[in-house]
Amino acid sequence: MNISELIKTPVVEPEKEDYIGEDGLLHCGICHEQKESYYPPELQRPGWEKHPSECQCMREKREAEEKEYRDYLHRSKVSELKGKCFPSTKMESWTFDNCILDEKKIRFGEKYSENWTEIEAGNHGLLLWGPVGTGKTYFAACIANALIEKEIPVRMTNLSAVMNCKFDEREDFIRDLCRARLLIIDDFGMERDTSYGLETVFQIIDRRYIQQKPLILTTNLSLKTLEHPSDLERQRIYDRVLEMTAPVAFLGNSLRPGIGKDKKKQLDEILNG
Ligand SMILES: [Zn+2]
Repeated sequence: MNISELIKTPVVEPEKEDYIGEDGLLHCGICHEQKESYYPPELQRPGWEKHPSECQCMREKREAEEKEYRDYLHRSKVSELKGKCFPSTKMESWTFDNCILDEKKIRFGEKYSENWTEIEAGNHGLLLWGPVGTGKTYFAACIANALIEKEIPVRMTNLSAVMNCKFDEREDFIRDLCRARLLIIDDFGMERDTSYGLETVFQIIDRRYIQQKPLILTTNLSLKTLEHPSDLERQRIYDRVLEMTAPVAFLGNSLRPGIGKDKKKQLDEILNG
């Protein structure tokens, strides 16, 4: 076989409609782009003149397969993070798009999640306070789901889950909670009324504080109670909470800002430019 015959021999298995173009290369019969290319002259050896290359159809097929694989990996990651985050599987579907909350709250929560980089860098936690049934837990779970969609590890728990954990596993459980980029403690302030319970709460909150990692708390306690606790043990915890979080009142239908705090002011600047 001489050189010109070798050049005409395709290096790719041709499809029925493919053809050899004037350049001596195999072309796709559908998009007409070449399916092979010449090596640079200095690299060419007899029998090694050409290498396969992608035509438009092949490129589109490969890109679609890559996208499908990336989507699969993303969905697996999201599903793993959701499974780890929530104390109950029903919370996995609580998102701002299918939300029962009012428009203002939804927008606030969406902005909080969208601006996560700055929120996290500034350690801007939230204290969602107000009576039972105002959507605090729902709102917190929506934030968790929005962040998990971005593959950010979030954990949502309550103190009874921590206290119900076997004693010798508790330290690991707490360490694991503190590893999350965002920790949500639901029903804060309802923990067992023992020194040990309070000490455990303090440990978790203090660890987040030292690590400068954001915390969201939901509580049925009023802001007034949090600001004027009944004893020193609680004061130590509540002071730290108020230092780390911006209070957001859930008092029925409207999302009213809590009492003006530096933390809330800084957060408003991020969210509202
Ligand atoms: Zn093609």
